[in-house]
Amino acid sequence: MAASMTVGTGAPPAPGDLSGEGSQGLLEPSPEPKQLPELIRMKRDGGRLSEADIRGFVAAVVNGSAQGAQIGAMLMAIRLQGMDLEETSVLTQALAQSGQQLEWPEAWHQQLVDKHSTGGVGDKVSLVLAPALAACGCKVPMISGRGLGHTGGTLDKLESIPGFNVTQSPEQMQALLEQAGCCIVGQSEQLVPADGILYAARDVTATVDSLPLITASILSKKLVEGLSALVIDVKFGGAAVFPNQEQARELARTLVGVGASLGLRVAAALTAMDKPLGRCVGNALEVEEALLCMDGAGPPDLRDLVTTLGGALLWLSGHAGTQAQGAARVAAALDDGSALGRFERMLAAQGVDPGLARALCSGSPAERRQLLPRAQEQEELLAPADGTVELVRALPLALVLHELGAGRSRAGEPLRLGVGAELLVDVGQRLRRGTPWLRVHRDGPALSGPQRRALQEALVLSDRAPFAPPSPFAELVLPPQQ
Ligand code: URA
Repeated sequence: MAASMTVGTGAPPAPGDLSGEGSQGLLEPSPEPKQLPELIRMKRDGGRLSEADIRGFVAAVVNGSAQGAQIGAMLMAIRLQGMDLEETSVLTQALAQSGQQLEWPEAWHQQLVDKHSTGGVGDKVSLVLAPALAACGCKVPMISGRGLGHTGGTLDKLESIPGFNVTQSPEQMQALLEQAGCCIVGQSEQLVPADGILYAARDVTATVDSLPLITASILSKKLVEGLSALVIDVKFGGAAVFPNQEQARELARTLVGVGASLGLRVAAALTAMDKPLGRCVGNALEVEEALLCMDGAGPPDLRDLVTTLGGALLWLSGHAGTQAQGAARVAAALDDGSALGRFERMLAAQGVDPGLARALCSGSPAERRQLLPRAQEQEELLAPADGTVELVRALPLALVLHELGAGRSRAGEPLRLGVGAELLVDVGQRLRRGTPWLRVHRDGPALSGPQRRALQEALVLSDRAPFAPPSPFAELVLPPQQ
């Protein structure tokens, strides 16, 4: 699918036009609404769904007339048979229109930007980037998600900060943007409710890794935000939804193409997700590391991704002449404390006690740790041999932490927010046998034999000379005419 493709014969709707009128003529309307079993059968057998079919399915999901089994069956049919660009575009609009469209003051229109990720391990970029962009003069009304499969969720991370409230009405979001320039909230009954239902169903029906479903899920949440520009971090590698860079590029092109067809300026960055991003994985630990990045410090791969994605957004939205200039502005916001200042304002505005927000943002790393949920025990793993750290595999690490309670296996399950792991080594570093390389933070009993083995196998050593770790950023897929 080409990134420059546009859909249908009608003019694409203006950004944020969710009236549905802009989509007339995209696909032939169906005269008779079909029953769900018929729609499922059509998709199961490789047929194409019309606009009316897709809208009928989404309406049934939201009004409760679709049974769980029917939703799961349709998701699986879409997962196996796929959807073309027009179907994906209609699904995106139908999800977006299932709730309220956010409306902002006219003066903000060019300032509204956002970033989203397809899901990673240790990915705390949103926590840093939203306030950094606010510090650069943008408005960032971020609607984010919870953990999906083995990947962590921005909302879960933020909820490890006592008092942080991800449930905010559209009116409250506007007040948050006025006060802090950014907010990070969850979808709700008002905001893209259909995606909330489908997202939870995908998580338990092995239908997460579907190109049209990911595209519609991400873009529907962004379409209601009325953005000027959006950057999507499309992960590839061992711990990404799509391990293969080709498949990830196809997803990136679909996101950019469907975005363009709906009047949304989207760029997609392909970034590697073989090792965890940064050194910390786990909800509260990742908040600590995000704060470190906003101190102008922290792991270089995290800072690199924050400045690269932020630079692309500032360029795309006309706030910087080039991507490099945009990246430099984001870096300056991390170094001069202005991003941290915006984060503190956002915390206080989203329910965190102002004294706690201040202490978290001004404290030392050790002081911060006292203020966030902590696991009961720490356990270190030692390097089994001498060698150079070639890789620390993110997937086995994430799966063990999931078992220890950092992620959920059923919707609504409470998380152990202090559970996680700290990498004590960097990729490319020389290591001696017996050196601690991983610190696991756990609440329950000691790691089981299989868990220890899985973690030890995550550490890949080689005989190579030490080397500088590569940047996770691989390539940027740009919208047409950029
Ligand atoms: N983020 C989303 O919001 N949806 C997906 O399907 C994947 C990542």
